[in-house]
Amino acid sequence: MIRKDIIDLFRVTPGKKFRLKDHNPGWKQDGFEDLGKDAVKERAQEVLTKNLADLAEAQELLYADGRHSLLLVFQAMDAAGKDGTIKHVMSGVNPQGCQVFSFKKPSAEDLAHDFLWRYTKSLPERGRIGIFNRSYYEDVLVVKVHPELLGRNVTQDKVGKKFWEARYEDITAFERHLARNGTVVLKFFLNVSKDEQKRRFLERLDRPEKNWKFSPSDLAERGYWDDYMGVYEDAIAATSTDAAPWFVVPADYKWVTRAVVADVVTATVRGLDLAYPEVTPEQKKRLAEARKKLDAE
Ligand code: ATP
Ligand code: MG
Repeated sequence: MIRKDIIDLFRVTPGKKFRLKDHNPGWKQDGFEDLGKDAVKERAQEVLTKNLADLAEAQELLYADGRHSLLLVFQAMDAAGKDGTIKHVMSGVNPQGCQVFSFKKPSAEDLAHDFLWRYTKSLPERGRIGIFNRSYYEDVLVVKVHPELLGRNVTQDKVGKKFWEARYEDITAFERHLARNGTVVLKFFLNVSKDEQKRRFLERLDRPEKNWKFSPSDLAERGYWDDYMGVYEDAIAATSTDAAPWFVVPADYKWVTRAVVADVVTATVRGLDLAYPEVTPEQKKRLAEARKKLDAE
């Protein structure tokens, strides 16, 4: 486990000034510096294995209790490790209780509706974990960097500060609505550095088995790095709430990203005060009868 007080450092506190530059993408847990590379790998593996056991337990409780659902939102620059982190979280839980949705460019049908429409159709039902690989936040991130993507999906004459503020407000209201109805919303920005992104892109180019992961458009978007950092900072500052907090997760070390996300998820589920359904005296009687019948076979 990564210590709770450290996890709290990654949580964006509502109402407090938020600056991305105060968050170090290359953070790794104290005590790991003095270890050799192999020892770090080994310790990291231990942490991750423990994570999976905790996640499995948390999900079972969520499912058994059946009152809440969990929505995990992942946003990041390319190659920050969204896919690997989602894979890690998923590998710890029962696939029947978990669903992943990846959101790409909206379709014509999507664009014919309000911007939240396509996401609401994929929300998790009670007892389940829903994972959004990209989300409605794209509508205030990539779309804010490239406003031409709005197409006809806009009724205002001017797309300026007010337009985006209205969208932050809509998102916050949407998430508050979800929270009030039993969906716990956790949002993760995987904070990778520009240098580490370059290293990962080069690795994708160098290794044939990783070539498929590279798309020339990734490089084009890298050209807008500073714009993206700006829109992320604004969006996170405007939409981190108690009902749906943002976590800015260090992402230069993959094992750190995975461990932090898994810890936040398990700690949140444990904090929900969930319970396995109680067996009533009437049900107990039925169970005893069933046992009698089986014994008599
Ligand atoms: P990977 O590259 O790991 O396979 P990805 O999530 O980057 O996964 P891509 O198919 O590469 O998937 O990219 C999806 C693209 O869709 C991204 O460029 C993203 O910005 C874009 N996109 C997602 N949501 C929206 C949206 N609401 N409006 C416009 N573009 C969007
Ligand atoms: Mg991509």
